Amino acid sequence: MLNIVLFGPPGAGKGTQSEKLIEKYGLTHLSTGDLFRKHLGEGTDLGKLARTYMDQGHLVPDQVVISMVEDKISTTKDSKGFIFDGFPRTTAQAEALDAMLISNGMKISGMIALDVPHEILKERIKERGKTSNRADDQNEEKVNTRIKVYLDETLPVAKYYEKQDKYTSINGVGGIDEIFEEISEVMDSY
Ligand code: ADP
Repeated sequence: MLNIVLFGPPGAGKGTQSEKLIEKYGLTHLSTGDLFRKHLGEGTDLGKLARTYMDQGHLVPDQVVISMVEDKISTTKDSKGFIFDGFPRTTAQAEALDAMLISNGMKISGMIALDVPHEILKERIKERGKTSNRADDQNEEKVNTRIKVYLDETLPVAKYYEKQDKYTSINGVGGIDEIFEEISEVMDSY
């Protein structure tokens, strides 16, 4: 089983690369942002709760995210493995994920981080905001908050995997296929 954490700031290209990885490796995509947006669209209580945080660019509380991921893992049967996208976003989430995987006889194969300068991230998110229909993409202040939250709360997660010798960083600027090739090389080394 291959279980990958695809890591990087908002706008780094995690969603785009995930789609290609799913196609090539047949893995299950687990994007917490997508799961929240699904709940939001369906108007569930979880969606309503998540919206209050997401619209401001803040993180949804750990316990809410962790329960949702637990549910998704336990209801996904016969998977070849998972691509975790946008999760874990805090060290507490990373610890909870390890515990969950261990209890299911699984483990993280590695973290692949997409490295993109902040100025480029802002441009990409602004561009995406024209069509994404996401409130959090359409306001510069919220985008800045998301990048700050990433630096303060999410970046330590990279250290968590570095300590376990599971961390690889890749240049996330360039052509989509070129970046995908680099990711594939790392995937094939697992
Ligand atoms: P992006 O990577 O572009 O910021 P995501 O779709 O991954 O977009 O996440 C959108 C929002 O959903 C985040 O800003 C946050 O409010 C919420 N969210 C997603 N994943 C998590 C998570 N693992 N922990 C806390 N909040 C999350």
